[in-house]
Amino acid sequence: MNFRFSPCTMAASLALLVLGFCLPITDAGAASQGAKPKLGAVAQIWDVRIGQHGERTRIVLDLDRKLKFDVFTLPEPYRVVINFPEVAWNLDTHNLPENKGVFSRMRYGLFTPGTSRMVLDVKGPVDVQSSFMLKPVDGKRWRFVMDLAPTSETQFLEHLAAQREKARKSLDALVTTVIPNAPPTIVTPVRPRAPKTLITPRKPSVPGKHIIAIDAGHGGVDPGTIGIGKSYEKNITLAMARDLKKALEATGRYKVVLTRNRDIFLRLRDRVKVARRAGAELFISVHADSVKNRKTRGLSIYTLSERASDKEAAKLAAKENKADLIAGIDLSTESKDVTNILLDLAQRETMNQSARFAQELVKALKREVKLLRNSHRFAGFAVLKAPDMPSVLLEMGFLSNRQDERNLLSKKYRRTMAKAMVKGIDRHFSGTEEARIR
Ligand SMILES: [Zn+2]
Repeated sequence: MNFRFSPCTMAASLALLVLGFCLPITDAGAASQGAKPKLGAVAQIWDVRIGQHGERTRIVLDLDRKLKFDVFTLPEPYRVVINFPEVAWNLDTHNLPENKGVFSRMRYGLFTPGTSRMVLDVKGPVDVQSSFMLKPVDGKRWRFVMDLAPTSETQFLEHLAAQREKARKSLDALVTTVIPNAPPTIVTPVRPRAPKTLITPRKPSVPGKHIIAIDAGHGGVDPGTIGIGKSYEKNITLAMARDLKKALEATGRYKVVLTRNRDIFLRLRDRVKVARRAGAELFISVHADSVKNRKTRGLSIYTLSERASDKEAAKLAAKENKADLIAGIDLSTESKDVTNILLDLAQRETMNQSARFAQELVKALKREVKLLRNSHRFAGFAVLKAPDMPSVLLEMGFLSNRQDERNLLSKKYRRTMAKAMVKGIDRHFSGTEEARIR
């Protein structure tokens, strides 16, 4: 195996190591370009086909060059994950294959800088029988081919255990090959933060300006909800985050940090981390929902609570919290969040502040946009759990409703919404300042 510090290999290995899942990195070698026409900087994926041959389900991707790849499986729900170096996806999103053999659905996108990912949902435990690159023949392109076959749950789990073992070994090899004298600490870079720092108020680093974090929901391999007109939630949330940043910064009173400013996957906890690192005093996560009833429309705002205000709120939180799962990360291997009394106290105060802020937003928004009934609700959203940063989650509307979808796709509408939000945010800060003086 040729271990080099390519960002893809490193990022993928380290990211997967943290999860306890990894795979041998398939050493497919460098692309042999020969006298072929010039290739762009980023590899292109042109087409995907899925075929069923008896028990076997074959997945074929057309590529403009040979690529390195990793394939691994995950349970609960059963998935097959393919990691490539960063690629451009030129697939027809309106005509993606569905329900063939063991395969049910797919999603893809940028996973981390340098790594693109495709996730295939499968109907049960499967075995990756083979995965390889096919050279171009008869004027065809390079092809990535993978064969899946149903297997027993026991075999699937055995294979999973073997995957982990191999991952551990290849990381050891990586550490010893690349950095012969590397201290073992490079594989455990996450130092637990002292609880005290979690509740220490952070001073704004930009004098005279409040720092606000805006979090565009979903991204990369996780499209979020898909609208009635096939719009992607991840694109709408990013557009809104940018529009809101612009509106806030235009006042001269705010400095805005975006948790993501491109179409990339970000873990829920990393979204909060980005905001905390920037010293954000407010965290606003923007989303769009969808439901069966196409008539349902309107905006709602959520803040954290252990007990959800109603069944729908609880369901929605469960849906949004699945983002990490959707991207192919297995949460079951993550350690539980550290909780202690200090944190709990800080969180309670923050929860109150978040609720007050949500009400200011509702007040400001109700003049401009259609709100859902009970527009402020409570639920256990993972992305709202920073103990020291008032946080709200906006479901800006329903992509299952034509009017809401059309609105959210319109820059004019998003600007109106952003302007109203600036008012609510202004009021939040003038309110907290008054409280301080008193
Ligand atoms: Zn969402």
